Amino acid sequence: MLDRARALHDEMIRLRRDIHAHPELSFQETRTAALVADTLQEIGGIRVRTGVGKTGVVGEIGDEGGPTIAIRADMDALPIIEANAADYISTNPGKMHACGHDAHTAMLLGAAHLLRERFAAEGLRGRVRLLFQPSEEAWDAEGKSGAPRMIDDGAMKDVDAVIALHVDSGSPVGTVSVGGGYRSAAVDTFRGFITATGGHGAYPHMGTDPTFMLIPVLTALHGIRARRLHPMEPGVISVGIVRGGSAPNIIPAEVYLEGTIRTFGEDVRAQIADELEKAFAVARAFGGDYRLEIDRGYPAGWNDERVAGWLGRVAEDLLGAGANDPDKKGMAGEDFAYMCQAAPGAMIGLGAGLMDGVNRGHHTPFFDIDEGCLPIGSAILAETALRFLKGEVR
Ligand SMILES: [Zn+2]
Ligand SMILES: [Zn+2]
Repeated sequence: MLDRARALHDEMIRLRRDIHAHPELSFQETRTAALVADTLQEIGGIRVRTGVGKTGVVGEIGDEGGPTIAIRADMDALPIIEANAADYISTNPGKMHACGHDAHTAMLLGAAHLLRERFAAEGLRGRVRLLFQPSEEAWDAEGKSGAPRMIDDGAMKDVDAVIALHVDSGSPVGTVSVGGGYRSAAVDTFRGFITATGGHGAYPHMGTDPTFMLIPVLTALHGIRARRLHPMEPGVISVGIVRGGSAPNIIPAEVYLEGTIRTFGEDVRAQIADELEKAFAVARAFGGDYRLEIDRGYPAGWNDERVAGWLGRVAEDLLGAGANDPDKKGMAGEDFAYMCQAAPGAMIGLGAGLMDGVNRGHHTPFFDIDEGCLPIGSAILAETALRFLKGEVR
């Protein structure tokens, strides 16, 4: 499978660079979706449905006489100005494929090629559904990102298992990371307002000052991770926005804070919401008050033990024993978690690092990958789907 995938390497590089040069933001992936649909039509023998979950595309290979496995790739870019110098850099100012979703899309198109060949050659029964998902990085006015939108449009109907990969720019090509259990974090956003009277900067004693309350509130907030959570329980609270005031001689009546909460377990997710209330309530001891709003976002990503095992075995069969580091996981969010709630599923991390000494972190202007990962990723996805349909794994 890997040899055959390597024969498609140039084609996958061409597709990845084409998508990379024409990045589109979440739910605006119309050019990318058209490229995907056209490529699937060219491969042939694939039923193609467009406009799924707004700008998503679904391709289906095979028939109903067997089980159904879905493979998901996301297609959206980020609002970042690309700082790379490659000849395929973004031609859409202020937009950039800085998370590798261009590579995910190219690899799933590569897997479509590989699967079509094998379906015909081996007379397989069952279906592979190719999910080209919009908007992993953002959500619409109703709070829904691409995965739940596609699920609403039937993308996961009758699916027995679902798999996906995500490139990892921090790990070298030839390595992977997959295992069972929690792999990505639940992502909640909080907005807190510390409220007081405000007043004249020359007469602070005449009222109450929310900037004075900010520090004890922040101390209490940052103490949640250190002093209130179980030491073995993953959880992160980060403040990303602090805003307040309009002039140097006016004590503001309000200070605004906004931040992100990352958790694995539902218990700690609820505990942090409760502890945040207490942290903001510290303002009351200083004569102020507070309002706190928490928006629940993506759920934590749970890899099914069995499906993760299939991916891990396929990866080690292709790359050699020891290629998988099952302990590598983090507190990033992934809306693939919704698909894993709809069917047993797993995501595998794919080593894609250039390892050239430049910080090529995801969501940074210098993000880039080693395109040597493309045949490996497409081979892992296609081989796992094939083994599933052949009943070699279940
Ligand atoms: Zn991302
Ligand atoms: Zn991503």
